[in-house]
Amino acid sequence: MSLVIVGSLAFDTIETPHFRKEKIIGGSCSYSALAASYFSPPKIVAVIGEDFPQEIMDLFHSRGIDTRGVKTEAGKTFHWQGRYGHDPNQRTTIKTELNVFKDFKPQLIPEYRTADIVFLGNIDPDLQDDTLKQVQKPKLVAMDTIQLWIQSKLDSLLEVLAKVDIFFANDEEVKLIAQESNLIKAGKALLAKGPSLIIIKKGEHGALLMGRDYVFGVLAYPCETVVDPTGAGDSFGGGFLGYLDKVGAFSQENIRKAAVYGSVMASFTIEEFSIDRLKALTAAEIESRYQEFKNLVTF
Ligand code: AMP
Repeated sequence: MSLVIVGSLAFDTIETPHFRKEKIIGGSCSYSALAASYFSPPKIVAVIGEDFPQEIMDLFHSRGIDTRGVKTEAGKTFHWQGRYGHDPNQRTTIKTELNVFKDFKPQLIPEYRTADIVFLGNIDPDLQDDTLKQVQKPKLVAMDTIQLWIQSKLDSLLEVLAKVDIFFANDEEVKLIAQESNLIKAGKALLAKGPSLIIIKKGEHGALLMGRDYVFGVLAYPCETVVDPTGAGDSFGGGFLGYLDKVGAFSQENIRKAAVYGSVMASFTIEEFSIDRLKALTAAEIESRYQEFKNLVTF
């Protein structure tokens, strides 16, 4: 099978109550592609400026990630600045400098158009839609988003939502789109808008999968030190879809396992800043944490 991911490649400036890190590597695509690469190397669609480090492109290549869909444009790479309070689930966007992202139009090369799985990572919903229009008959389409698009481009977002199979969102986002304060009712309302599965990410409380005829919950890994929560959601999505791409069948059992692998990848990401933990994992570390997740809910 094959997995195409569209998303952002970025510099992030991150502030936590203990640290400030200037212009470290971020972006929805960086996290999701690296997380997926431990299961099945994805093809990525994104834009970078001339200042994006070659060593990161080399890292992507060394992980088998196909970067032919990454365009380099004159100018600076997208830059996002965020701040976390003492509660790592609460973050504020301080600054968003679109830079080369401003004129980005995703262009899929022919080899990408036959993808089996498409992950529309967090970018402008109009760009997610442009990407989707270029893919022929994918077997599975998933999308992610953030509050910015719910508040500024709800109509476009709902248009894409109607075309996807899986919607990743956090609990606040689900409630905001559905205009409903009960999470389960909100999830059901979104299921009625098109997707057959809503994956609600609940930060340190794990994730809830709401299908048409089942609900599945996965705990988050009990992390004592959360260094930088950025990218947890993207890593979840990348791990989840990378696993499904590897196994090639979307049975409920595989979807449940994929959710655990997604949680495993997210739990590694938050242990370090940026992609530092995600870039050099071993299959043994991933399997051992998967087993720990299993033990958490065995009784
Ligand atoms: P997550 O923590 O998984 O929600 O994703 C965080 C990543 O999203 C950061 O590395 C940012 O660079 C990226 N990001 C933030 N805002 C945007 C945006 N408006 N468009 C695309 N990517 C963004």
